[in-house]
Amino acid sequence: MTVDFVHDSPSTDVASLKRSIANKLVFAIGKDPITAQPRDWLFATMLAVRDRLVERWMRTTRAQYSQESKRVYYLSMEFLMGRALTNALLALGLYDDVRGALDGLGIDYDEIDAIEPDAALGNGGLGRLAACFLDAMATLGLPGYGYGIRYDYGMFKQRIIEGNQIEAPDYWLANGYPWEFPRSEVQYLVRFGGRLQDEGRKVRWVETQDVFAMAHDHIVPGYDTLATNTLRLWSARSSNEINLTKFNQGDYFAAVEEKNLSENVSRVLYPDDSTYSGKELRLRQEYFFVSASLQDIMHRHMRTYDSVDNLADKVAIHLNDTHPVLAIPELLRMLIDDYSVEWDKAWGIAKKVFSYTNHTLMSEALETWPVDMMGRVLPRHLKLIFDINDEFLEEVRARFGDNSDIISRMSLVDEHGERRVRMAYLAVVASHKVNGVSALHSELMVQSIFSDFAKLYPERFTNKTNGITPRRWLAQANPALSSVIDHYIGKTWRSNLDELAELKQHMDYPAFVKAVAEAKFDNKQRLARFVARRLGGVIDPHALFDVQVKRIHEYKRQLLNVLHVITRYNRILKHPEKDWTPRVVIFAGKAASAYRMAKLIIKLINDVGVKINNDPRVGDKLKVVFIPNYGVSLAEIIIPAADLSEQISTAGTEASGTGNMKFALNGALTIGTLDGANVEIREQVGEENIFIFGNTTEQVEALRRDGYNPRAFYEQDVELHEVLNMLASGYFSPDDPERFRLVFDVLVNWGDHYQLLADYRSYVDTQDKVDALYRKPDEWTRRAIHNIAGMGQFSADRTIREYAAEIWNVAPVRL
Ligand SMILES: *Cc1c(COP(=O)(O)O)cnc(C)c1O
Repeated sequence: MTVDFVHDSPSTDVASLKRSIANKLVFAIGKDPITAQPRDWLFATMLAVRDRLVERWMRTTRAQYSQESKRVYYLSMEFLMGRALTNALLALGLYDDVRGALDGLGIDYDEIDAIEPDAALGNGGLGRLAACFLDAMATLGLPGYGYGIRYDYGMFKQRIIEGNQIEAPDYWLANGYPWEFPRSEVQYLVRFGGRLQDEGRKVRWVETQDVFAMAHDHIVPGYDTLATNTLRLWSARSSNEINLTKFNQGDYFAAVEEKNLSENVSRVLYPDDSTYSGKELRLRQEYFFVSASLQDIMHRHMRTYDSVDNLADKVAIHLNDTHPVLAIPELLRMLIDDYSVEWDKAWGIAKKVFSYTNHTLMSEALETWPVDMMGRVLPRHLKLIFDINDEFLEEVRARFGDNSDIISRMSLVDEHGERRVRMAYLAVVASHKVNGVSALHSELMVQSIFSDFAKLYPERFTNKTNGITPRRWLAQANPALSSVIDHYIGKTWRSNLDELAELKQHMDYPAFVKAVAEAKFDNKQRLARFVARRLGGVIDPHALFDVQVKRIHEYKRQLLNVLHVITRYNRILKHPEKDWTPRVVIFAGKAASAYRMAKLIIKLINDVGVKINNDPRVGDKLKVVFIPNYGVSLAEIIIPAADLSEQISTAGTEASGTGNMKFALNGALTIGTLDGANVEIREQVGEENIFIFGNTTEQVEALRRDGYNPRAFYEQDVELHEVLNMLASGYFSPDDPERFRLVFDVLVNWGDHYQLLADYRSYVDTQDKVDALYRKPDEWTRRAIHNIAGMGQFSADRTIREYAAEIWNVAPVRL
């Protein structure tokens, strides 16, 4: 039967856009333009723009079905998306038109853009990587789905009060979120607890506590293509709406309590970055989104093919870190218990479907769940993990002999003390590919945490150096520089970032160098205005902007930066007559709410800032600024304004970093250690165009192995001695002289785990070289251009092409 289905294709000329926005304001928002608030205009505009994506979205989905495309499902606990509107407009090529349309309605685009809430469903680099990857998959036309959790509360909002971090909830959904499509018809039952009725390998899991997962879809636009993908986020819905007995007895609160409890599973994002929390609710969150996603994937597959036999030909599931690793036993559970597949066949399918990215080598971040807890919350999955382990350890014995050392080292269950499941090992055993996120990290990964596994499965381990999307991180964040680049090499770098290399040909044109320098100055003025408006402080855009923005963590060594700041302060006081290169040192970043040392570092930065910024002897020679509430939108303002990018983690600790790439792409010079992707950035931009300092990974390891004595550095380096004594004596905390004693002890007396004191002299001396170069502005800008021109390699498009070809075996859809 054919039906006469007709709908209006939305037009994209300015007059039509204007009319659409007006229609949305009146009919979807229900507001009279006389009383409409900026947020009403924003939402009306977002709805009008979303309309322009829907047909592309449906067309892409249909093409995927008709071409029987293999799909890749990117499972991630975090998606740090940021704002959607400008990104969509640039992808559609409608940015100027929508500005014009709003202009015609008397509305300033920038004003409504600034109030769009960030979708901050992530902590930092890992979540932002997932967002950059979605952008690249859509832009390349790859059939890629993101699956995650629709947290009611995303990353907390950070305020700084008297120098301390204060957290406030981020209720980003308070006014609704016009970008998403709620799909109340797409709900899956997710089960917890209960007990098992054994029927051999096939098991009945009964008497469970259940919750529904409901889908919310976000359109992910590809840039300059019809292709669009889907981000599907799950939100918990109580399975027993409210307890009617209690409700009828008049106990309203008891009646809704149960509902609230079960819905807690999607309530809030855990704010720990690079640390493992071990909370039962977190385990439930992980299973909740993984179970819903796998049911959805299987449902889609069975609807099309009605057989699991070709599952691995049509489905690739990628695990972003170990957080979604329960997808492995969940797939086995469905295949064995629901689809009656034999163990061997099910396990064979799983090993072809899954792939896994490792994000860290640091032990404090590696997930291991107590066997006890897992047995209580997910008894079926624990049993399946034991089954996998039995089979795996057989393989280990066959290969290495019955060596109890090796067996206990490699077992999926850590038997030392409280028994725990090692999630990273489970991921390795069940995945056909395991990748690190930079060349250095991938190499260290097979030498350290996975060394035994690399002997058993050498072909499994591979590197995929991270990348960032040039659409958001250059075109959107930095219109000033983008238009200079467009003028010299055209506009197609947005989807072919390697073209930036052509900028080198223009290096000898003074007009080009001048234009790049002017773009940087514009961005510094933009940031200075922002700081004046938000913090009331005055910073001079002529000064060198020295920027470290990222999560606050000891391994990232914001403290080392502070030691340099204090050193500089002392030098200025000793030689006020010298011709100092003025600097503004800018920090931003959130500390996990329970991370005491990270919070103390924030307080220290602010206390040092108060002292230095108010010291009349210093004046404009040195300023310290902490900008609160770091997130994607703030990064878009800060990064384009940076002259110097601080990437100073202890060598061997930062798996890749992506902030480092964003800065270099925006023409900042890096001061950094040979860590993560800094190593590859140096190769791409040339070693004369980057400031490398400090110990290498090997030297860090040698110090750890042979005995590192930080006190010797403290005693031998006069400047370092003075700086540390100022911390210990309360120079920066006269109201509480003991406040930073802990910092002193951690560094001098308690082993200085991240070896700040070992790198201090090299860092400070390298900062002197930075000053000297900054005094030659043309030379500085030329080196900045070498950085921009060398960043082609760090496009997320390059990264995703490698994943598609070498891990997922997926091809673009034809449109
Ligand atoms: C890129 C990015 C990060 C990661 O920064 P690193 O310096 O690599 O740690 C964290 N947060 C936000 C908001 C980002 O955009």
